[in-house]
Amino acid sequence: MSRILIKNGYCLKGNDKICDILIENDTIVKISKNIDKQRADSVIDAQNCLVIPTFCNAHTHLAMSLFRGMADDLSLMEWLNNHIFPSEAENVNKEMVYTCSKLSMLEMIRSGVGCFMDMYFFEEEVAKAALEIGLKGVIGEGVIDFKTPSCRDAQEAISKTISLQKEFESDNIKVSFAPHSTYTLSVESLEKIAKSAANSIIHTHANETDSEVRMVLKDKKKRPLEVLYSVGLLGKNTYLAHCVASNDNDMKLINKSGAKVVNVPQSNLKLASGIAPIAAMLNKDIEILLGTDGSASNNNLDIIEEMRTMSFVQKVLSGDETALNAKKTFEIATNSIFEKSGKLKEGFKADIVIIKLDSLESVPLYDPYSYIAYAANSRDVSTVVINGRIILKDREFVNIDEEKIKADVKSMAKKLGALF
Ligand SMILES: [Zn+2]
Repeated sequence: MSRILIKNGYCLKGNDKICDILIENDTIVKISKNIDKQRADSVIDAQNCLVIPTFCNAHTHLAMSLFRGMADDLSLMEWLNNHIFPSEAENVNKEMVYTCSKLSMLEMIRSGVGCFMDMYFFEEEVAKAALEIGLKGVIGEGVIDFKTPSCRDAQEAISKTISLQKEFESDNIKVSFAPHSTYTLSVESLEKIAKSAANSIIHTHANETDSEVRMVLKDKKKRPLEVLYSVGLLGKNTYLAHCVASNDNDMKLINKSGAKVVNVPQSNLKLASGIAPIAAMLNKDIEILLGTDGSASNNNLDIIEEMRTMSFVQKVLSGDETALNAKKTFEIATNSIFEKSGKLKEGFKADIVIIKLDSLESVPLYDPYSYIAYAANSRDVSTVVINGRIILKDREFVNIDEEKIKADVKSMAKKLGALF
């Protein structure tokens, strides 16, 4: 059994104060003052640190780090159809997904992420990389009505999802069905997915732009969420990335079905898609999570930066400076897809971030939520523990060859014209 004691940190756990956290194996077993050092095999000194739960990056395309900065400043459809889809057809393979996902995983861990939800191709490689690195993740083989680098058609991607579930479904890896969207799939394909999905997580893009909604309305005579609802893909296990172009009826449908919304603010800003009405959704009791999207449309996976953007744009959209306050923003960013994660609580998984208060932006500190949501950045993350395993210690990865991963991605990117 391994026992780690985090000592004297300021713990954000509801009734926040300086205390110790004792971890046994993968679980937080005790949070209190003055836990005896003798009870642990190793002690982390968290004096002058904030101790918080890990963040959840609930919408990513991890392997797309290869395309970071390759095609910027374009409209969504031009970006997808003329740049991303053709580059993917040529360059995406098992090795690329494994290596480039690992790079993204390290980037996420540096900003305090403990779990993610991904959608891409060759997702078995994402699962393998996550298990090696020690991150928790929901993988999802993208289902789409044309040939992808990994599957001939939607049916093959559905069958593949079922075999991924058999191979990888566990406490640390969940396997979702990942229909790309209602504009890249026919009603027939969506129905097939719904039939196979049963109680699985559904991860999809929805209402990303007004033009997407118009396209689906023209083609299917329904709005994207109405299409998902009518085929049986909108329910409490459904995670809807984007939801920018959402009207009152859409919100009613989300609320009625119990689906969750993943806010992806920076990608929506960069692609000029708009701002999802998150503050309005919260008022309607819709559950919200936060994601970065892939690094081709963001262009980094810094969830702390994303948190700040989420809050600021909601204030602008609603014309209300009190909208989405710092504490609520923090709660959304730590809202986890995994059970017993996202909170510092006895009996919960030991998914913990230690933020060292030695940076210029941490001086002075009156309110930890304000500091994390509005002033901090990923460089302030010092130590990350996931499932009781120390992955990042004093800003260095433990037993992970960061330089090799960077070198491997650079050599792949050279072939695509990268300068460095
Ligand atoms: Zn996406």
